[in-house]
Amino acid sequence: MNLASALVSSARTHPDRAALRLEDAVVSYRTLDQGSAHMAGLLHHRGVKPGDRVAVMLPNVPEFAVAYFGVLRAGGIVVPMNPLLKSREIAYYLGDSGARLLFAWHAFADEARAGARQAEAEVVVVSPGTFDALLTTAPSVEDLADRHEDDTAVILYTSGTTGQPKGAELTHANLTHNRDIVAGELLQLTADDVIFGGLPLFHAFGQTCTLNAAVASGACLTLLPRFDAGKALGILGEHGVTVFAGVPTVFGRLVRKPDRDAYTVSRLRVSLTGGAVMPVQVLHDFQAAFDCVVLEGYGLSETSPVASFNTLQAGPKPGSVGTPIRGVEMRVVAGDREVPLGESGEIAIRGHNVMKRYWQRPEETAAAIRDGWLYTGDIGRVDQDGYFWIIGRTKDVIIRGGYNVYPREVEDVLYEHPEVADAAVIGLPSSDLGEEIGAAVVLKPGARTTAEELREYVKHQVAAYKYPRKVWITDTLPKGPTGKTLKRQIVPPPELDRR
Ligand code: AMP
Repeated sequence: MNLASALVSSARTHPDRAALRLEDAVVSYRTLDQGSAHMAGLLHHRGVKPGDRVAVMLPNVPEFAVAYFGVLRAGGIVVPMNPLLKSREIAYYLGDSGARLLFAWHAFADEARAGARQAEAEVVVVSPGTFDALLTTAPSVEDLADRHEDDTAVILYTSGTTGQPKGAELTHANLTHNRDIVAGELLQLTADDVIFGGLPLFHAFGQTCTLNAAVASGACLTLLPRFDAGKALGILGEHGVTVFAGVPTVFGRLVRKPDRDAYTVSRLRVSLTGGAVMPVQVLHDFQAAFDCVVLEGYGLSETSPVASFNTLQAGPKPGSVGTPIRGVEMRVVAGDREVPLGESGEIAIRGHNVMKRYWQRPEETAAAIRDGWLYTGDIGRVDQDGYFWIIGRTKDVIIRGGYNVYPREVEDVLYEHPEVADAAVIGLPSSDLGEEIGAAVVLKPGARTTAEELREYVKHQVAAYKYPRKVWITDTLPKGPTGKTLKRQIVPPPELDRR
């Protein structure tokens, strides 16, 4: 088994079809296949053996796919890294994974070199055209390295529920099964589909749901290296995108773009979201604006990543993350015991999507996976139809005077306010109650509401212990690489205490 075998078979069936597109440049399946075979040749030449880790720190450009499939072809383990990492972080990832070789994008070459120097690894700087040169210089190794299904294909760094970033080892079987379910029953992809490639490919969501799903179907992945709402809308229309995938923030930015109607988006049939809470209002607005179904799903780096999804067949249940995908079980537990139906608890997952282990971390692995169940640290519940609802994370719960408040419930109310663009509800230290509820809110352009009005707005809609006593308006919220709000980085304004 080899995750890259899908590329070889698509190149055989559809050699001249577009595999990747970046603006007007198109890479055919034949070229991608040949490029990755030369990449495998280069790796052999450099002494990379099956099981060796190779770091890939590239943005969403065709070269990412060439490197990714080249490493897999050679039997290596891909260690994808966010191209925006700083040298200290790069050295940490290289040192921890033991990768001796780092493919880094030219624009970030200085940091890459500094990080690699600290970790005593070697850097190959990649720029547009590097791989064209490869095609003519490096030997081609077409045969796929024979890998066992339980061999690791990719190591994804994630902080999991606690501690320092650690490497989730995803096997060829983990990623192949997850991809096949996404491409098959979830999206029903064919070679006529065009998938929007805006999700970072160094992250599990982008890899499985866009790159691998597209390649397995002979579809085209149209890449956008840096998200911009105008560019994304242009691509959706001009490239005839049929499948859109993004984190909720991106959906919000597209529906709120004031000149959205100036773009003609006519082929879109289905959109996927996950990775963070999708505000129900944004889901409805997006469906109405683009006349397409929005399916929300749920998962983690540790689950390859998809665990549950709403489906086209049943139609979405907005606000829920759907039902477990085929071959995957989910349950809601307190400790090791399942809670009664409808009650909330920690979500545990078992199935073909659960990672093999955390790389070289037996203790953390044993704490996260018990009896085959992965304990996610996410809090949710399941309804009588078997749909799961995410309420928060174990660490994302605010305990105010002994009462648990899940930020999501309060954020959902704020999102319903017509002038709110983005919101994050966090716990603030309180000498009286332990924690007080605070809300940082970004307003839409031209909005006139005030922090005081927003506080009153929420107060009228939730139980008294839940509404945010402290609300402040801010220009932006800190975001991670996939668009997720980094709540721990939110700093309330100092004058808040005097109010
Ligand atoms: P990552 O490993 O970066 O993919 O992050 C996984 C985490 O994202 C999960 O543990 C959840 O906390 C969160 N997450 C993923 N999907 C959803 C969703 N649909 N709704 C709420 N949180 C989500």
